[in-house]
Amino acid sequence: MTNLLDFPIEVFQMIVCELVSSAIDESAHSIYSFQIEDVWLLRNVCPTFAAEIERSVFFQQPKAIYLNSHFIQRLVLERLPQYVMQVKRIPGNVNEGFRARLQRMTSYILQELDIKDEKQRADAIEKFYVSLRRIVIESRLTHALWCDCGPSCSYVTESQSNTELSVQDRLYTSLMVGAHDVLAGILQEVSGAQHDRLFSILPFGVARILGDTKSIDVILRHLETRPSLERTTLTSDSGIFPIRKTISTLLARDSGTIAQALLEFHKKKLPSPSGHVYASWIYSAVHERTTNHLHNLRAVLNIHPKGSTQVWGETMITICAGGSSEDVQEALKRVEDVDKGTALDAPIFIAVRSGRVAAVQGCIQAGASVDLAVCSDSPTLHKDTITPLDVAMDRNDGHVADVLIKAGAKIPHISQWPGTRRVYKVLRKAVSERTNVKLPALRDFQHMSLAERRDIQY
Ligand SMILES: [Zn+2]
Repeated sequence: MTNLLDFPIEVFQMIVCELVSSAIDESAHSIYSFQIEDVWLLRNVCPTFAAEIERSVFFQQPKAIYLNSHFIQRLVLERLPQYVMQVKRIPGNVNEGFRARLQRMTSYILQELDIKDEKQRADAIEKFYVSLRRIVIESRLTHALWCDCGPSCSYVTESQSNTELSVQDRLYTSLMVGAHDVLAGILQEVSGAQHDRLFSILPFGVARILGDTKSIDVILRHLETRPSLERTTLTSDSGIFPIRKTISTLLARDSGTIAQALLEFHKKKLPSPSGHVYASWIYSAVHERTTNHLHNLRAVLNIHPKGSTQVWGETMITICAGGSSEDVQEALKRVEDVDKGTALDAPIFIAVRSGRVAAVQGCIQAGASVDLAVCSDSPTLHKDTITPLDVAMDRNDGHVADVLIKAGAKIPHISQWPGTRRVYKVLRKAVSERTNVKLPALRDFQHMSLAERRDIQY
């Protein structure tokens, strides 16, 4: 039998060409036919076959094939540097305007960085395309690569219509390649966010996606040098560096130190955040399931927003509503007296009303008294003073009542209990454990008069 490699290369090319085009053809007609996915797997047969298949799939198809086959799109996007740099393609199978724009961007950065070494040049170009794939929304990138909608397509051309690279394109190129000195220079020219359909993610977002802390640092150092009015404009929500929104996003998703660097900058160089902004930061920094973000919450708590005292109550409510017990404790470290406040704003009452065991436990661990008695604020509680357990009982919250009781909360006499099942069960069990007295079952309790209830002794 003849060895596969003994065949002339042209045979491979013919087979592959036939296979690929029939697969592409067939997939349009029937889902049971030989698919392009199957052809792709044939690369395992031998290296020559693999090279031919890749060549055929990547470079020898007309534009429409790339636009219409999701599988091929994914293949191309995964190998974007090879796809764009490969010269032996059939003409017109990529949008030439877009390709020219990308080439201008890469030539620009190679020149700026003054890279002569071939290997280093190739690495920089590779980095550019890998980053491009990560920071441009996939549907926009595929559209731009194979666009057919004419010269005015906004995904293809940069905002300025000449062949000079726009500030925007140079800015993004330096970010994509991580060229920090070049970035520092371009920032001098940046005056605001120019609308660009292709690059919809703003610089802070790009640096975050690429994990490039140094770029964020370069941007912050640049902003520091700006006059304060300009700095405020550039960092406003509609500016090119919307720092407050970025902080919110990072606090929620990122357990690294970028959020803290931005918060630190905000604290030193920008006006104090409004209560609304501060609340959104607290909300983002609070995490029930992980303590990885605790340092983020700490950084937010170290900032004193406008009207700090009013903001505090809302802050506590937000942390109790979504935070871990550690989050609650972290916040309470900043309070002189954890038992200070009314039924509305004393931490343990906020925690009890949140209905979350983690919040109540956090308060208890921070030293809050479970028997804190304050003036009643509730129309349903006819008492002069109320305790956290009274509120939990009123809310029929068995879980929270249980936590308070286990932490030693005094249990009021049975005549003050509500006849609601969840909380009654918890209270009855706790009393029987503490006193060995068997109290009436709920059904019997519900049928008793108040006088009868008061007569129960234990
Ligand atoms: Zn288009």
